[in-house]
Amino acid sequence: MNPSSTCCRVRPAIRPVTLSRRYASTSPPNSAKNRWLGIVLVSAAAAGAGAYIRSQTPQSGTLNPEKFTKYSLVAREPVSATSSLFTLRPRYPSDSNYDVYEDAWRTGVWSVMFKQPQLQIGRDYTPLPTTAATSLSVDEENEGYLRFFIRKDPFGEVSRYLHTLKIGADIEMRGPQIECAIPKETNEILFIAGGTGIAPALQAGYSLLSRTTRENRPRIHILWASRLREDCIGGESDTAKAPLRRSWYSGWFGSSESTPSSTRAVAAVSPKQATSLIVKELEALKSQYPEQITVDYFLDEENRFIGKQDISKLIESTGPTDGLRKSKMILVSGPEGFISYMAGPKVWAQGQELQGPLMGIIKELNLKDWGVWKL
Ligand SMILES: Cc1cc2nc3c(=O)[nH]c(=O)nc-3n(C[C@H](O)[C@H](O)[C@H](O)COP(=O)(O)OP(=O)(O)OC[C@H]3O[C@@H](n4cnc5c(N)ncnc54)[C@H](O)[C@@H]3O)c2cc1C
Repeated sequence: MNPSSTCCRVRPAIRPVTLSRRYASTSPPNSAKNRWLGIVLVSAAAAGAGAYIRSQTPQSGTLNPEKFTKYSLVAREPVSATSSLFTLRPRYPSDSNYDVYEDAWRTGVWSVMFKQPQLQIGRDYTPLPTTAATSLSVDEENEGYLRFFIRKDPFGEVSRYLHTLKIGADIEMRGPQIECAIPKETNEILFIAGGTGIAPALQAGYSLLSRTTRENRPRIHILWASRLREDCIGGESDTAKAPLRRSWYSGWFGSSESTPSSTRAVAAVSPKQATSLIVKELEALKSQYPEQITVDYFLDEENRFIGKQDISKLIESTGPTDGLRKSKMILVSGPEGFISYMAGPKVWAQGQELQGPLMGIIKELNLKDWGVWKL
């Protein structure tokens, strides 16, 4: 796939969330007439503001890309010291959410924008698919519950705000935004995820594997790099070797070597620690689609990083494409620096975020018929 192909979303420049205006204050009126005038003006302004706010208040419970829809925070479960699993439900009932979500799931990787109301800024987050490991009941699914894996950036405006909300608080969101449509002829995905980039990887897995039929058995390989072991506690690598303890300076650009491949368990588990909620999701997909998904874990704190060999090994291990375009995709998702290192930076031009040229370590590989997309 050509990086300039249009299966996926070109991100527009950051849109203003809502317009908020500030008027310069004037000196207070000094006569009774002026006082009355002031009261009248203030009342009119208040009434106007109320009408404006009411007109802007989303009463519809159906997620849509135009207006923000209110959701309530139902639960926030810690995954690690720096990330949590958020469960949200539409504040107002709607019969349509199931269909809205289903369209997005069928299409590929999607996100929604959350609003930080005090600062009037928005950030994108990725709904997690519902797997067998999910605690959502059928009713909750029907009621339009959504779940998110969100990392708290200690200096980040929106993620910090979300982590301070009390259960029951409102969160406004709009969407879905399709980040990358997975073409129907796709039968192999290599997903390289850094940190919370695992959320779109779960989406891609769910979307691709749910197309499984007797004749069509697509496959996905996920390479997931995390900072901390606790993010992926309990995860066992399927193809990568056990971690090497390396010195800090040799770690960044290296990869696995020298440990017997029979040794598994990259994210080794202490018996006291429960399996991470995200690992449970990955395991659930694996048991639902055996032989169709592999996951390998890489940990900064164990000095083990995704290297060229890890990617090329998976590329080499797949068969020919039967000449079908877009049947093999490499998707890269994670923090900016991670994407740049893997595939080169995305670029801004004419108010839009574009893919930019393919660079990074992936460019150095013999990609053959694999297309690359930076999320
Ligand atoms: C499509 C998409 C899907 C996403 N899905 C998820 C998801 O599922 N889960 C998730 O956790 N995240 C996800 N993200 C990332 C998310 O949108 C936010 O970027 C992230 O939560 C940080 O936002 P923030 O407002 O907390 O941080 P920001 O306020 O944007 O700050 C981010 C970092 O930049 C630094 N910074 C800010 N301003 C400056 C400055 N002027 N100079 C220097 N440094 C500065 C801050 O200190 C902070 O460390 C997704 C992003 C995209 C594009």
